[in-house]
Amino acid sequence: MKLSSRAYDLFNAFEQPGCPVCRLTMASVHQYLDSLIYEYVNKPATHMMVRAARGFCPRHGWHIQNEINASAVGIAVLYEGLVRNLLKDMGNPDPKGGKRHVAQIADALAPQAPCPACEHQRTVEEHLLRNLLEHIGQDEFAAGFERSAGLCLPHLRQMIDADGSARAKAHVLAVQQAVWSRLQKDLELFYDKQDYHHLREDMGAEGDSPRRAIESFSGADGVR
Ligand SMILES: [Zn+2]
Ligand SMILES: [Zn+2]
Repeated sequence: MKLSSRAYDLFNAFEQPGCPVCRLTMASVHQYLDSLIYEYVNKPATHMMVRAARGFCPRHGWHIQNEINASAVGIAVLYEGLVRNLLKDMGNPDPKGGKRHVAQIADALAPQAPCPACEHQRTVEEHLLRNLLEHIGQDEFAAGFERSAGLCLPHLRQMIDADGSARAKAHVLAVQQAVWSRLQKDLELFYDKQDYHHLREDMGAEGDSPRRAIESFSGADGVR
């Protein structure tokens, strides 16, 4: 099997629970935010991006606050610059100002660029999906994908819109069909076993199928 380094990451993620693209994307976004916060000192470009976006989107702002260790100084430096610039851009709001005055300030408050972490995420997702399509023709890789939890629906739909041949996309869809058939049987077995006739039966692989179903259709918790 010949794999690019990203395809190799995917192949390893096939063995882990959940959508492999969600898993690798979330890890990459975490790493991106972690280094962004630590390397703030020498990165004027980072400051500009964060200011233009008027801060991070809610998901990524809270990710920094809650999951990046010791980020308080980085946050202080980044957001002080952000607030300082925002104050300047707002000008001097006049308490007696009219509609036009309020509209001007509304323009100044609007983000002029997307959240940098969302941009990073989009790039990583596209890269991973392209690698999935480029390697699905290799039997061992396709078999690994078939054993995995498959793509979540949002990533499956993104895959269809991604660059790549129709043949590779059809191949991914055929494998996904097999993955979802397995999920459907597990869900059926799960609720069958709740039936009083089956109370004594132990749960097998279907035990966590309700959770897997949510992830399969919504993506991993925190990915969007
Ligand atoms: Zn996903
Ligand atoms: Zn974001």
